[in-house]
Amino acid sequence: MIRAFAAALIAWAVPAWAQPAPKLPCAAGDRPCFIKALRAHPVRGAAYWKASLSRPVAERLGPAPPELVEFLHLDNAANGFPEKPRASRLSADFLADVRGAIADLPPAVRRAFDATFAGVWFVDDLGGTGFTDMYLDGSGRPAGGFVVLDAAVLGRFKANGWATWKENTPFKPGGGWTLEARIEKAAGDDRRGAIRYILLHELGHVLSINRDVHPRWDLDPGDVPASARYPFFELSWTVDRKASRYDSKFDASFPARRSVTYYLGAKLGAADMAPAYEALARTNFPTLYAATSPGDDFAESFVSYVHTVLMRRPWEIVLRKDGKVAMTYRTCWEEPRCADKRRLLEGLLR
Ligand SMILES: [Zn+2]
Repeated sequence: MIRAFAAALIAWAVPAWAQPAPKLPCAAGDRPCFIKALRAHPVRGAAYWKASLSRPVAERLGPAPPELVEFLHLDNAANGFPEKPRASRLSADFLADVRGAIADLPPAVRRAFDATFAGVWFVDDLGGTGFTDMYLDGSGRPAGGFVVLDAAVLGRFKANGWATWKENTPFKPGGGWTLEARIEKAAGDDRRGAIRYILLHELGHVLSINRDVHPRWDLDPGDVPASARYPFFELSWTVDRKASRYDSKFDASFPARRSVTYYLGAKLGAADMAPAYEALARTNFPTLYAATSPGDDFAESFVSYVHTVLMRRPWEIVLRKDGKVAMTYRTCWEEPRCADKRRLLEGLLR
């Protein structure tokens, strides 16, 4: 499971209504029991998603079905999250924004997901903004993925406000430094744009399933077979099997990379913003979030490429010191540094 957080936001009150919480098969704190229940759960099997997969991509969405809500309760319990997700009641205007966000995707993107995308399902109080997990075929091989988004969190965002909030999370504020992210023009800065961008990132995780672009996210780095080949991953990462850790190929010139953490508490100071983005511009990571892990390298590369190249939408990070622009960082798809990654993405989206 891959989870994106919105820790600063999820504490906001969400409307409560009567919806019985599912009964869980394990005692609180019994992690091995929860892990076993998760592995055996119906939503991990391709059969559960058959009806969804037979519909057009733009119709694979809705409030999370009861079995998926139960699965999320198990996952939260296994990982120590206190949230108890509930299926969302989706307003007509929110549903229209989700349908619109999917309809906006280029045909090549919708085609790439036809056989493997089991839909985007909405809960309130997920414990994070987004969640993606894989389902397995009859022989236990990963076959595709499903996405869960927190409708109560998404309902509050417009595109640029969300991006600016997210891109600030690695840095403590102060010192006259500010960071502004712009992913839409003022006229298109709306909730539909935020949903589209967040969904594209999660779709990047779905696309990675079974493509050998990077090691499976449910594998410890120490267990990655030495013979396995991952062409996308190998452009930026190496495996330290002894330490069971991924290293980036740029860590010598970008030592602050290991201190880049999103959502869950900043480790870098505001004065580190400009050096971090200067170092980033010498790597083949399109965004700073891409530099945090192999899985998010691919998901961020996917959303960045689709959003800026295929959809020709804006994307920039503007750093200011005392209100004056100190640096503007843009993505890398027209630059030699990302040419190899671009070729691989073009191949996946033919
Ligand atoms: Zn992610």
